[in-house]
Amino acid sequence: HAKRGGRDGFRIYLDSMTNEAHELMSKSSGLKQALINQELFVDYQPQFDIQTGLIVGAEALVRWQHPTKGRLMPSEFLEIAEQTGIIVDIDDYVFDLVFHDLKLLMQQDLVSQDFKLSVNLSGRKLFSKALLENLKTYHERAPEVTNRMILELTERDMITKLDRCIESIENIKRLGFRVAIDDFGIGYSSLGALKQLPVDILKIDQSFISGLDEGSVDNVITDSILNIARSLDLCAVAEGVETEAQLQALRSIGCHVAQGYYLSHPITKDAFITMLSNTAAG
Ligand code: C2E
Ligand code: CA
Ligand code: CA
Ligand code: CA
Repeated sequence: HAKRGGRDGFRIYLDSMTNEAHELMSKSSGLKQALINQELFVDYQPQFDIQTGLIVGAEALVRWQHPTKGRLMPSEFLEIAEQTGIIVDIDDYVFDLVFHDLKLLMQQDLVSQDFKLSVNLSGRKLFSKALLENLKTYHERAPEVTNRMILELTERDMITKLDRCIESIENIKRLGFRVAIDDFGIGYSSLGALKQLPVDILKIDQSFISGLDEGSVDNVITDSILNIARSLDLCAVAEGVETEAQLQALRSIGCHVAQGYYLSHPITKDAFITMLSNTAAG
């Protein structure tokens, strides 16, 4: 009867809440376990000098080889990692992987003198006290390796606390790391803010690149971003190049470095090593 139905309805409501909370809890404890069990790894997306065709670097992108769900992409676990703060540990873990991979690539003479490896850092990480100490330890261990690492931070994360951010970036750069602004152009930072940020590289967000077409407004925007980069003495990297037409448009406006599915998808470390061996970059 009515009373029973009501209670069942309530139970269904509770169950669905429990499911959501359960999903969150299981994913976050799963992530902690993933770190312990070393289920996280990175793929590398090569970056090319699109005027010469040479590989000039790569970006490390984290993946999770889940014991039951298979391979998970950042969109499936980074949000929970951000919410729970586990992202800070993930960033440490990924940094360590990338440091060792770069060291290996250099020892095996697979990369050219100016090859750089990029790693993403969350905003939380940028403002964590341990970051600088941690980077310092790596720098002291092998400055020839850390000198070739680029730390990517999103424009949004940088401008929320501009003053603190400038200070952190200055400290990071003193240790010889380079710093890139990721997803540039969509984070609403003013040019005044950009001028104050002591960064080395602008990564042009893929939303502009995907719109590159004859006579489109995105051509004008991308051209302007390149000009801004040149006048502030920054390198520009175009992200998300998916077609020959986009590549041609970038070449014609004088862009040098690009990454994207058209050039290469993110690939496993082993596949990347094979690619480097075949192109004999060293
Ligand atoms: P992001 O740093 O902007 O990385 C570029 C993303 O675009 C990657 O997605 C990459 O696979 C994808 N991509 C590359 N070329 C193309 C293309 O031509 N077309 C399209 N549509 N997409 C392309 P992914 O690997 O899923 O990573 C998503 C985001 O997760 C990254 O965006 C970054 O913000 C974050 N992330 C990845 N790894 C890490 C990490 O180790 N630490 C932190 N804190 N964040 C990470
Ligand atoms: Ca990035
Ligand atoms: Ca990006
Ligand atoms: Ca992005």
